[in-house]
Amino acid sequence: CPSTGIYHSKWDSPVLPPHQNPSLSLPSFLLSHLPPRSLHKPAFIDSKSGDSITFQELRSLTVAVAHSLRSLGVKKGDVVLVVSPNFLHFPLLVLGVMHAGGIFSTANPLNTRLEFHAQTQDSNPVLILTSREFKPKLDGLISKPVVLVEEFINEVLVQSSSRQPCTSAAFPNVVTTQAAANPAALMYSSGTTGKSKAVVCSHGNLIAMSGLLRHVWDAEGGASDETYLCVVPLFHMFGLSVLVLGTVSVRATTVILRKYSMEEMLRAVEDHRVTRLPVVPPIVLQLLRYRDWLKGFELGSLKEVICSGAPLGRDDMERFSKYYPHLILSQCYGLTETNGPITFCNGISGRIHVSIGRLIPFMEAKIIDVRSQKSLPPLKHGELCVRGPPVMQGYFKNQEATSQAIDNEGWLHTGDLCFIDTFGLVYIIDRIKELIKYKAYQVAPAELEEILSAHPDVNDVAVIPYPDEEAGEIPMACVVKREASKIKEGDIITFVAGKVAPYKKVRRVVFVEAIPRSPSGKILRRHLKALYTHQRMEI
Ligand code: AMP
Repeated sequence: CPSTGIYHSKWDSPVLPPHQNPSLSLPSFLLSHLPPRSLHKPAFIDSKSGDSITFQELRSLTVAVAHSLRSLGVKKGDVVLVVSPNFLHFPLLVLGVMHAGGIFSTANPLNTRLEFHAQTQDSNPVLILTSREFKPKLDGLISKPVVLVEEFINEVLVQSSSRQPCTSAAFPNVVTTQAAANPAALMYSSGTTGKSKAVVCSHGNLIAMSGLLRHVWDAEGGASDETYLCVVPLFHMFGLSVLVLGTVSVRATTVILRKYSMEEMLRAVEDHRVTRLPVVPPIVLQLLRYRDWLKGFELGSLKEVICSGAPLGRDDMERFSKYYPHLILSQCYGLTETNGPITFCNGISGRIHVSIGRLIPFMEAKIIDVRSQKSLPPLKHGELCVRGPPVMQGYFKNQEATSQAIDNEGWLHTGDLCFIDTFGLVYIIDRIKELIKYKAYQVAPAELEEILSAHPDVNDVAVIPYPDEEAGEIPMACVVKREASKIKEGDIITFVAGKVAPYKKVRRVVFVEAIPRSPSGKILRRHLKALYTHQRMEI
């Protein structure tokens, strides 16, 4: 709209907005009305063993998980932390916690004990479920003993095997009144600045995301006939939204890979006749680099590779369309704070799609000048702001960070430098927020700066992203040494490596005279980026 500078979705909106029933919970939205033809269809399949859960079983087992959680003392509004890599029953835990009225929270299992300590102090879970491998890092962080996820699931399966399947009529909405406004999940993100904080995802946010994904995919035709492969982590919002909320909502089948490797991924596509593959850019790069490998697999079922989480270079898209002319390479874009993707591009095979797509229904966007905060016309570069039903309620118990992220008109400031063309297609130019994305995983510079500031030989420090072909970006520390210090790059790298998850490691160090700061003391990161990474400063 030229007068307001606000862009609206160009998608036809669903007749019934999915997020407007205040008494729905996410599990009741997804599972209470299963069409008879999807009852016995697999909702999730383990890529290796072929074990599966049908939609009917997903509903019955969600009730059973909720029942078991309640018998372990979980009450309405309690946080349950699940720390696990992808596995067949992960979606059950998500839905079961929410069905019990609890709040699902998760974390990267590679986090250190120190990082888990910080997260549990912040969100205060009443229960932690994890596998044997990660238990020692979590033991003793809360008063209740850690529950082994494998044993918990086995018990649920044994107990529910003797029960009748749960029917639509018998599927209760446990959180009843005003369920949609209640928190359903806490997902961690560093947002545009500072350290990692919990995004409060309400049932209403997640219902909106599920319903809108369904609408967008149905518009492409036959979404329920698709088979998706889940290689991205379900503890990240991209995986959780697309491969649980989206796929369950359209009644598509999702094949879950326990541990990513190129070979396992290709084998799963072949074995399960996968049609759609959501990935992050490093996987696209592997598909380009190891394309000879693909010759050994029958991959004719695959139609689309959907890339998100971090930028994919134009050259890589061009090479992809040259090597795989029969495949669609499309993009979608979202943030943890938007509860999943809010733009989608319907790709065409053999063409490159530089745009991250169009806004999903009910979403609004504007591009603002970073300094004046005024709306800009089409094609002008500025910060993307978005507003709509999937946008988070705020950060958990953190009003200051919430009002920094969401202004008083309800616009979420994404921290991404974008432009929108006259067709409503959105393009990403750069990231202006502090965030570093290592293989699409979030690394918060503030966290690494805090760790490094405690080093006796470090006088001042700033951490910035350094471009990397394989990972997209790696964290680079710009360090001001104390006088006469003999500290070396390797010492800095080792110091941090012992305290953080592997994906957060500092991988490059530059020693500098001073850290440029604004009069208020804020690190001028873009100056450092321009100086030490040879990147152009857009703003
Ligand atoms: P996260 O909260 O971890 O999902 O990170 C969100 C951020 O990832 C966004 O603000 C973008 O900076 C980046 N991102 C997500 N999708 C894309 C995409 N398709 N292209 C470029 N960057 C992306």
